[in-house]
Formats: sequence, C-alpha cells, structure tokens
Amino acid sequence: MDILSYISDQFHIRRELVQFVFECEEDVKPVFRTLQETAQLGQFRVIDAFQKNCVSARHFYASTGYGYGDEGREKLCRIFADTFGAEDAIVSPMLMSGTHAISTALFGLLRPGDTLYSLTGKPYDTLRSTLYGANGSLEEYNIRFACTPLKEDGSIDLAAALSAIKKEPSVTVIYLQRSTGYEIRPAFTTEAIGHVISVIHREFPDKIIMVDNCYGEFVCTKEPTAVGADVIAGSLIKNPGGGLAPTGGYIAGRKPLIEKIAGSFSAPGIGTEIGSYAFGYQQYFQGFFMAPHTVCQALQGVVLAARVFERLGYRSQPAYNAVRGDITQSIIFDSEEPMTGFVRGIQRASAIDGHVVPYAWDMPGYDDKVIMAAGTFVQGASVELTADGPMRPPYAAYLQGALTYEHAKLGILYALDSMGIAL
Ligand SMILES: *Cc1c(COP(=O)(O)O)cnc(C)c1O
Repeated sequence: MDILSYISDQFHIRRELVQFVFECEEDVKPVFRTLQETAQLGQFRVIDAFQKNCVSARHFYASTGYGYGDEGREKLCRIFADTFGAEDAIVSPMLMSGTHAISTALFGLLRPGDTLYSLTGKPYDTLRSTLYGANGSLEEYNIRFACTPLKEDGSIDLAAALSAIKKEPSVTVIYLQRSTGYEIRPAFTTEAIGHVISVIHREFPDKIIMVDNCYGEFVCTKEPTAVGADVIAGSLIKNPGGGLAPTGGYIAGRKPLIEKIAGSFSAPGIGTEIGSYAFGYQQYFQGFFMAPHTVCQALQGVVLAARVFERLGYRSQPAYNAVRGDITQSIIFDSEEPMTGFVRGIQRASAIDGHVVPYAWDMPGYDDKVIMAAGTFVQGASVELTADGPMRPPYAAYLQGALTYEHAKLGILYALDSMGIAL
C-alpha cells in the first residue's frame, strides 16, 4: 500500500487531505533546505562551544546545598555565552520561566529614577505586571516605563524612538521584544535587530540595549548578542532547551551587566557564586546540543502549516517562504469554530494527552478566553508542538514548536480533519 492510503486508512483522515498536505510539502522543500543550512551552522557553533570549554561527563553531575564550585553550572553558562557571542551568561533551573529571566535582568539593570524604553510597544501580556500595576513591579521602585508603538507594518519606528529617547535622559535601558506575543506582525530577525542596535548605539553609546530573545534562538545564524545587544534573555522550555531541559531560563550579555544582574538573580554580593541542582545538568547540556536541530524541526512544521493554510485561503503570518525571526506562526480563522477545530486537531496529534479536548477558558493575565493545545512532555513547553490564541477577533491561533517535523505534519493533518476541511 502506498503511504497516502496507509495514513488515510490507519488514522482515518480523508485521502484527499493527506494528498493535499503531501503536495504542500513538495512546495516547501526549497525552504527546508535553507532552514537546514541554518541548523547546520547552529549545530557547528554549539559543538565548537562544547569543545572549547572541554565539556566532560562529570559536568552533568548533581550538586547540593550552596553548590560552591559546581562545575556543571559554570560550564553551562560558558557554552551559552560562547554560542551566543556573549561575554558571560547566567543559565539556571532557578530561572523559572522566560518572564522570570527577563524580570530578573530588568531588576538587575535598572535603578530608581531610571526609565525603561521599549522600541516594540507594550511587551507581551505577562511581562506587563513586572513593569507596573502589580506587587513589586518596577513602578514601585520609581522606575518608569515608556515606549514607541510599532508602525502599522510591524516595523520599529526608529525616528520616533530616537527623538523620544533624546528628550528623556532618564532612559538607561532600551528594550526590544523579538517575538510577537499575541500580535500579528513578523518577528525580528537577528539581522534586523542588528541594524536597529547599530543606529541606537551610534546615537546613544552608553545606553543598554536588551532583547527579549524568546522563540528566536537558533532561528538565524547569530543571536542578538553577536550583533551588539548588551543583554538577551529567554526560556529553556523554548528553543535553547532543545525539548529536553525540564525548566529554566538564561540571561546572556556583556560581563559587567551580567555581574549586575547576578545580584538580582540571587542576592547582592553573592551573585552566581552559589547555586546547586540535585538532578544534574545532563538534560540542559544535551538539550542545548539538540536545540539547533529541534528548532529546525519546529520551523519546518510551521512552514508546512503556513503553506497549507495559505493554499486554503486563510491569512497567515509569516508567509511560508518569508525569512523568519522566530518559531511561531499565526493563522487567522476569522471565527470561533475553525479556530477551535484547528487547536483541537493539534491536541489530537499529541503523544501526551492526545485524548484530551481543549476548550477556550479564562486564564490569569488575559482579558479574553484563551484556547490551548499543549500535549507536551514538559509542562507548558512551547518548543514542543503547541497551538494557542485568545478567543477574540480576528480569531488568530499561534502554532509553534515540534520536537520532530513528523509530529507537526500529523498535527496539521488532524487539524484539517478536525476543522472539517473539504477540498
Ligand atoms: C514565551 C515568551 C516569553 C516567556 O514567557 P514565559 O511563559 O514566562 O516563559 C517572553 N516573551 C515572549 C515574546 C514570549 O513569547
């Protein structure tokens, strides 16, 4: 039996849907080749960093208590720093999420009277309470937040930002969010970020530029720290954990800044001298080793999804053959029903909780109901195949991740089936 009939029979998906997805796969093969080249360079960079730092099996060992002289922790920080083109890094299971990593970095860099200035408008929902309106927010320490909204086409309004920053000498940290959150705009590539940074640093050489690098690691051949960003931060249950890291976050950047942040990360004066981990670091090392490949798998999955939904007439962002800055794909459904069907199809493809049916529900930190497909090995890990979105016009679902391209392909097949797509 040919593979199309086999998939159709075994998984009860109409043959014309299977055939259609296979056709779309042919369309995207040239894009896959480019993605694989980037993955290759990323893999070489990572292995080079491991070798330069003489990583050995003993660095996987667990430590307890204060963790003085925990060599694994130190090596992990070094390989992240070297791979990302940064002078230093904090990589830790004690950074509980991407938001925690970013918040820790901001509290380390900013002082009372300072202003944090965002070039990309308001940040994603959950970071807003770090800035204002919540217990312990920057606002309570007399640290202000200001921003320039993005232009209509999603690009940074550099002219407006430069003139606003010129008028506001209290701006010490300039902030840029690489990925989109629940917005419909393209993510920024490292190249685009590098251009913005060079303009800002020319004008304001002393100001610190920090990038929320979530979802962006290994999507391009370099990270923002390699093109002038002073600090970047991200989550280990996204790209750089490679699907294996069970929790954690990282902050990387210039050495004096990482030293400042180390004070807010643990305690002033103690910094990164301590920190133990009783489970050992193997999954972190191995996950980082896997990350360029895993990111490539995830990218191939969303590229196929982009092509499939584009051909079906849905608006989708970015286009399947666009140059990407992150691993997310938004697909606009314009009404509740197809969006729900899509998310349920993605869930149905999961190895974990594939039998569970997602419903749109109230979530802390969001004004609208949110629907999520998250059948993941690591809870909440969006480097794994996941889809989610707020139930509000234009009914956009965000698809991201996949540890294997094959899993993403099954997710797309089930999504079409669950939406009741007729060709
Ligand atoms: C996922 C994400 C983060 C980190 O989110 P956590 O859920 O706190 O790990 C930060 N910024 C953006 C743009 C993101 O997409």
